[in-house]
Amino acid sequence: MTANSPVIALHGGAGTILKSNMTPEKEADFHQALAACLEAGLLILREGGSALDAVTASVMALEDNPLFNAGRGAVFTTDAKHEMDAAVMKGDTRESGAISGICGPRHPVLAARAVMEQTEHVFLAGDGAKRFCENADLEMMEPEWFSTEQRLNALNAEMERRRLGVEDDGDPARKHGTVGAVALDQHGHLAAATSTGGMTAKTPGRVGDSPVIGAGTWADDKTAAISATGHGEFFIRWAVGHEIDARMRWAGQDLQKAATDVVTELGEIGGSGGLIAVDAKGNICLPFNSPGMYRAWCGTDGVIHTAIYKDS
Ligand code: ASP
Repeated sequence: MTANSPVIALHGGAGTILKSNMTPEKEADFHQALAACLEAGLLILREGGSALDAVTASVMALEDNPLFNAGRGAVFTTDAKHEMDAAVMKGDTRESGAISGICGPRHPVLAARAVMEQTEHVFLAGDGAKRFCENADLEMMEPEWFSTEQRLNALNAEMERRRLGVEDDGDPARKHGTVGAVALDQHGHLAAATSTGGMTAKTPGRVGDSPVIGAGTWADDKTAAISATGHGEFFIRWAVGHEIDARMRWAGQDLQKAATDVVTELGEIGGSGGLIAVDAKGNICLPFNSPGMYRAWCGTDGVIHTAIYKDS
């Protein structure tokens, strides 16, 4: 182990299938997909690439996999459309790019990265964001390409539940999801990326925490890189990414305490979800207050791990 051993972690969302509804086959598919998506970023880090390139590659792989709520497999709004959000952030300079409400780029994370690299802005939304994507040399797809039967069923079930006024059964898989990655590269730099379809049956125009810098996405080499997943409104109001940064920076807390406490506090006020975080020393913290969080990580020991529930 050296001081600059690369470290990477990713999540495929806190909207995990309840253990009672999981089958061994589905569970194996998730573990396999999580490991493959982690490897996409890990390979870049091992070749001396940047944390930014690594988190971008892992998130692109997650976006292409319909198991996860980002890119292909994104959830639907109440009017049965996809509105995707994404963000990237670099820990060395705090450069960041974010985009919201888009449906077109195969990889929303690349649209966020293009905002960072091709404009003087941080965050694009609305019609301007769509036009930007069309002109930013991104691979574009038809709306149907992103749609899956499973997400359509989830929308219909949620709309029916609301129509009947039935209480929520607490199954996070029906509503939640998001993907993200955080990494520390051999040069000592951190980066974070997050991409999501948002929440099933969200109001058109609703923006979650994922593209909000300081909420669902954050990176600063002095503290940590963070990507969150969960009930976005709570993560925005608690400024989760920046809150963890502040506790580390000003209160001298370590990553483990700062990140775990924030996620526990969110759980206490109804903000279900979790996050992945890595600090400049290569410590990894993956706390969640939901039944599970799809996740994978490789620390300074170089071993790839995947998990869905508390201990497996
Ligand atoms: N945080 C995402 C949002 O609120 C959804 C999720 O991660 O489940 O849009």
